[in-house]
Amino acid sequence: MVTQAQILQWLKIFESEIEQNKEYLTNLDAAIGDADHGINMSRGFKKVMSQLPTVTHQDIGSILKTVSMTLISSVGGASGPLYGTLFLKASSVAAGKQELTTQELLELLQAGLDGVLQRGKAQLEDKTMVDVLSPAVVAFRQAIEEGKDSLAAMQQAVAISEQALENTKPMLAKKGRASYLGERSIGHQDPGATSSYLMLRSLLKSIKD
Ligand code: ADP
Ligand code: MG
Ligand code: MG
Repeated sequence: MVTQAQILQWLKIFESEIEQNKEYLTNLDAAIGDADHGINMSRGFKKVMSQLPTVTHQDIGSILKTVSMTLISSVGGASGPLYGTLFLKASSVAAGKQELTTQELLELLQAGLDGVLQRGKAQLEDKTMVDVLSPAVVAFRQAIEEGKDSLAAMQQAVAISEQALENTKPMLAKKGRASYLGERSIGHQDPGATSSYLMLRSLLKSIKD
């Protein structure tokens, strides 16, 4: 079971992870994009933090919807609408809920991934955030089928996503700005996949507490 308080904690942890990794994310984007991914994510989640006090007593769906709207309105670039859509789809699964069962958390993660896929039209191995999100959702689902609880399933998902992040390095980018580089995108870790990994790791930390 994941509570509303843990979801709020997730967002706070993710925001602080983004701040701590702002330069790292931007440097990754400097190699294969336009050197703004850390800046974009930081701007968006600082804005999310400023909105959180207005939703502290609301259900998980309303909280995630506010995150979505805030990201869409404050983040330029590809990542704003993509993370905005992820949180929007996630919010609809959590509408009216004060807590999520392990199955509901799976549905939330799956909906978020599906939103990114619909919005960005990336496929696996296009070297995007999908290359971390998708294996993570598959691992989470598999863990549930093995009878694991939210914490154990999330541990499994994060372990897989860490390897999945590493796996973006040899990929040739086929979506987003990095795709303009063609072969020169090979050998670099994808910035959006990196922020998605941080997002999942933050969720694990919040469930652990
Ligand atoms: P921009 O590239 O517009 O400057 P960001 O730098 O904030 O935006 O985000 C770049 C990241 O967005 C990439 O590293 C990649 O993971 C992700 N991305 C870009 N295009 C897509 C897409 N079509 N589908 C999924 N993710 C994408
Ligand atoms: Mg960029
Ligand atoms: Mg940009």
